[in-house]
Amino acid sequence: MVRDVPIGGGAPVAVQTMTKTETANLAATMEQIRTVADAGADIVRVAVPREQDVQALETIVRESPIPVIADIHFNYTLALKAIDAGADCVRLNPGNIGGPEKAGIVIEHAKAHGTPLRVGVNSGSLPEHLRRLEYDDPVEALVTAAVETVELMERLDFTNFKVSMKSTSVPNTIASNRLLAQRIPYPLHLGVTEAGTKWSGSLKSAVGLGTLLADGIGDTIRISLSTFHAEEEVKVAWEILKALKLRERGPVLIACPTCGRLQFDMDSVVAEVERRLEAYDDPVEISILGCAVNGIGEARHADFGITGAKDMGMIYSKGEPLKKVPTERLVDELFAEIDRYYAAGRRVVRDEAQAAEARDWLAENEDDTQLTPERLAALEAAAADGGAPELDEADSPVAGRRFTRA
Ligand code: SF4
Repeated sequence: MVRDVPIGGGAPVAVQTMTKTETANLAATMEQIRTVADAGADIVRVAVPREQDVQALETIVRESPIPVIADIHFNYTLALKAIDAGADCVRLNPGNIGGPEKAGIVIEHAKAHGTPLRVGVNSGSLPEHLRRLEYDDPVEALVTAAVETVELMERLDFTNFKVSMKSTSVPNTIASNRLLAQRIPYPLHLGVTEAGTKWSGSLKSAVGLGTLLADGIGDTIRISLSTFHAEEEVKVAWEILKALKLRERGPVLIACPTCGRLQFDMDSVVAEVERRLEAYDDPVEISILGCAVNGIGEARHADFGITGAKDMGMIYSKGEPLKKVPTERLVDELFAEIDRYYAAGRRVVRDEAQAAEARDWLAENEDDTQLTPERLAALEAAAADGGAPELDEADSPVAGRRFTRA
């Protein structure tokens, strides 16, 4: 347990992030902690590199709505003081805390106070005796460092910890955590260290952490992004967990990639829907698809969806039309339907006349380029008759893109 958050043993994968403020700046640090907590962080870590930071820690722990981990490097006395300040957990790297003896002092202190530790090994700070192995086999070196740390804690009869191994290399992160998960029975914290910018870092983390989480490895995660907005890390972490169906939080938005069939400004619609969905906590699934027939077919599982065309679009639920509306009112009407659904106790309220009108509109706008099973059968039959069907783009409503059978 890190305060009230269970870690490991089948508990939900916990989302962590780290504040980017100067920890001793109480106002800034507390504001960022509240922001990340609102975004869904289960646990927050703060850097404690100086005396004034450890002095601020007591207030931070007391006022934080989520558990606080003190992040300590190099100075074992700061780790002792962080435990005294009531940190919910202390993160230390035995490779840079001054040797096994100093690490042992911190471990004994944590044991006496019931404070959990996160012990981490980083590819950049492996102990001296593993440097040669690191050169030959970096994965084995990381895992050996982690196992040695675990053995140290077990010798001291301390088991209230989780372990992290971090590397900037995604393949090494995956390989080393897979190996470590076989060798030790303790919870693992996952992260790709110095992952990069919001774009590249999110992708590296999604690949590295996603692969491990899909294997059932990993009990807490942190997405390291080069941004001052720590809540962005939390949002990415949640998207990974939601994609793997490991946890649910807030709405799920599905949007098609668009193609030449698109006839309305879908970019703006997606951005607006995403923005307005932030006000909802429920895991309602919303689909935005660019054209009528594919849209309704591909989004049969969505609680609500919109599909647009040039001037008119349609709102539907679970693949069934609800109403047609002018394109510029699509988003407002979508949210009116969502709100009506919640007001009715999560029941879709369908006006049959409007639904029939939407069905007619859908039929009129049916895309006859789709290779449905029926059309494929007709094409095969025509080919078997020796009359290979020709395609003609003469009636294309989207310059040169839409083909119909001649
Ligand atoms: S839903 Fe329509 S617009 Fe979107 S990618 Fe598919 S065919 Fe293209």
